[in-house]
Amino acid sequence: HVKEAGRKNYMVYDQTMNEAFTERVAIEKHLQNAFDNNEFQVYYQPQLDIRTNKISGFEALLRWNSPVLGSVSPLKFIKVAEDTHFIIPLGKLVLQNACDFLKRLKENGYSDLTVSVNISILQLLQADFIDFVNETLSIYQIEPELLELEITESILIESFEIVTPRLQILRDNKVKIALDDFGKGYSSLSYLKQLPITTLKVDKTFIDYIVGQNEDDFVGHIISIGKNMGMCVIAEGVEHQNQLDYLIRHDCDKIQGFLFSRPIPENKIYELLDSQVPPYCQ
Ligand code: C2E
Ligand code: MG
Ligand code: MG
Ligand code: MG
Repeated sequence: HVKEAGRKNYMVYDQTMNEAFTERVAIEKHLQNAFDNNEFQVYYQPQLDIRTNKISGFEALLRWNSPVLGSVSPLKFIKVAEDTHFIIPLGKLVLQNACDFLKRLKENGYSDLTVSVNISILQLLQADFIDFVNETLSIYQIEPELLELEITESILIESFEIVTPRLQILRDNKVKIALDDFGKGYSSLSYLKQLPITTLKVDKTFIDYIVGQNEDDFVGHIISIGKNMGMCVIAEGVEHQNQLDYLIRHDCDKIQGFLFSRPIPENKIYELLDSQVPPYCQ
């Protein structure tokens, strides 16, 4: 009987593990095909300048709608793509798409809007990464200051020595660098000082602290630190009006979140932009 019970427990454990494993294998199996069949799309989430109340730029976010697996979250497939190094061609696709979008924005009269692209550590560690960024900018004739690369803290800490000079070269060429998900992991202020960061993205976990009437100044202090270091501070995952009110009071620069807009496909962007009141009408 003991043996049977043990076996049963093992089975339950095994099943959960199996499901996760099966999902991973399925994602891995379909990734290459997905690429060849153009199943990936890049969506863009607007970033709002709090002072002007206007869109100042967008974050590029990958979407994968698989005919076999359905819609797969980037939280799942990015990890697999990194493990299999498939993130290299996939990351190139996103950067090219973003520059193509920037070009069309300019053609539509929106020549000062920025686009931010999430960059995986594996991309940054490629010997030709900087060349690829510069070449892409020049092919699409994009001013480097309109492109922002988003890097997360954890990857910076892992490969600090290699990554820092690379980011500096990109920065010297006027490309913007954002520190993504600040506050999600082990945030260290010393990294803020040592890296050529232009934008601090305060993670949703911090923004979620802003809940109601009795909120404290904690997030406000984070904003102050970023601003005192000369960075643009943007709040991620803003879902509620009271969070926005707080961020306005604490002089945050920008917001990104479902309160204003979800990530949307490019064809819906122009409508959104055109519906904004032009500055000369204010
Ligand atoms: P991230 O870079 O921090 O992107 C922000 C995530 O928060 C996006 O999730 C976005 O849809 C979501 N978000 C924005 N506003 C709100 C809000 O108000 N509420 C909530 N609940 N969520 C909000 P998404 O698109 O699922 O992407 C998840 C993560 O996957 C990204 O986090 C990023 O780390 C990664 N990712 C997405 N696209 C790419 C890519 O092209 N390359 C790389 N390397 N990573 C990517
Ligand atoms: Mg990001
Ligand atoms: Mg983020
Ligand atoms: Mg985040």
